[in-house]
Amino acid sequence: MNPETHKRSIDDYRPIVGENVIDQLKRLAKKLNGVRVLHVNSTSKGGGVAEILKWMIPMLRDLEINAEWHVIKGDRSFFNVTKNFHNALQGQECNISQEDKETYIAHNEKNAAEIDFDADHVFIHDPQPASLIEHRVNGTWIWRCHIDISQPCQEIWDFLKEYVNRYDASIFSMPEFAQSLPIPQYLVPPSIDPLSEKNRELTEEEIAKELEELEITHEKPILLQVSRFDRFKDPIGVIKAYKLVKKREDCTLVLAGGEATDDPEGPAVLEEVRKYAAEDPDIHILSLPPVSDRKINALQRTADIIIQKSIKEGFGLTVTEGMWKGKPVIGGEVGGIKMQIQNGTNGYLVNSIEGTAYRIRQLLHNPEMAAKMGAYAREYVRHNFLLTRHIRDHLAIMIATQHPHETYIQV
Ligand code: UDP
Repeated sequence: MNPETHKRSIDDYRPIVGENVIDQLKRLAKKLNGVRVLHVNSTSKGGGVAEILKWMIPMLRDLEINAEWHVIKGDRSFFNVTKNFHNALQGQECNISQEDKETYIAHNEKNAAEIDFDADHVFIHDPQPASLIEHRVNGTWIWRCHIDISQPCQEIWDFLKEYVNRYDASIFSMPEFAQSLPIPQYLVPPSIDPLSEKNRELTEEEIAKELEELEITHEKPILLQVSRFDRFKDPIGVIKAYKLVKKREDCTLVLAGGEATDDPEGPAVLEEVRKYAAEDPDIHILSLPPVSDRKINALQRTADIIIQKSIKEGFGLTVTEGMWKGKPVIGGEVGGIKMQIQNGTNGYLVNSIEGTAYRIRQLLHNPEMAAKMGAYAREYVRHNFLLTRHIRDHLAIMIATQHPHETYIQV
């Protein structure tokens, strides 16, 4: 697949992350010149994994690494099954039949016939394509898990583990997500591209145009949650918190989301959210088309407070995006959100609807404190969650798996 046309070069990031960071990346990449890297996932649009691969593939190519991205295909039955797997792995009740497992295996068999696996490093993202390991020809195979599998439903984890155990290594976003496995486990938090359409600086005119198109005005403070319509993102909880705040403060709530092609539950959740919001004219529920990056950017830059009230979360790129825009983010104290928000310093972590409402009110009453938190948040992202750090980790893992017996590799 051809990643989106992407004209940026790694050197464009020098002013953002500094000279040393880029020089080190180039030295690392030199050790891998000419290797072929293949990334495989299950959707080209929507959701965090596609978001990362969209910049990672062109950036690796810019570093003279021969990188490819393949998206597996599936019909509704496959994505219903994999969504059930996903929910069960994130701790929901298991409801998976033998037939589901067969659907999963059969779809991946079919997909395998269309993929050229002849690569030095193959990264398989998440459970959907995990059984492709059956088709390994050569190279090192790495299973990259983006979700929280710290308390999985055992039956489905036992099924998936049979495949995962056969990889050369695994990557998790956080230590808590790692599992007892016989293969090496690396920890690599995700990241964002500060120069992408989703994250680049926008002019005031650009922001105004996007908001006008969305029919959003900034007359009152704006609370924003950007997320797929997924119960783990708790959009109903966000509305409940907004309603508590609204008793005393006038504000607007924007819930912006769209569909990911590998998430069949989206339309039903959107319907629930619409019903729950009922007739409140200050709640804007936006179902955005898949490529709405500039709109999301404009919304995040306009919002006074960004919320990500997830009750389960892999990492939460929307948190990173909000923090990078210098906004105070109120996030559920789960998964990777805990790694990003330092409670009370660069945002707030919350565990309840009441807690969320309390923090919203606190930030609305203290704009100076909110601005300070936002500034800390941006610097935290600069040092930890930009794509340059992420590429460095990937290059280092490829080098390490290529030289498994060396304990010291000079760059
Ligand atoms: N996103 C988007 N359009 C939407 C909803 C989300 O482009 O309608 C993007 C969002 O900006 C973020 C990613 O999708 O970059 C979501 O990643 P996150 O890690 O927050 O959650 P996931 O969807 O992977 O669970």
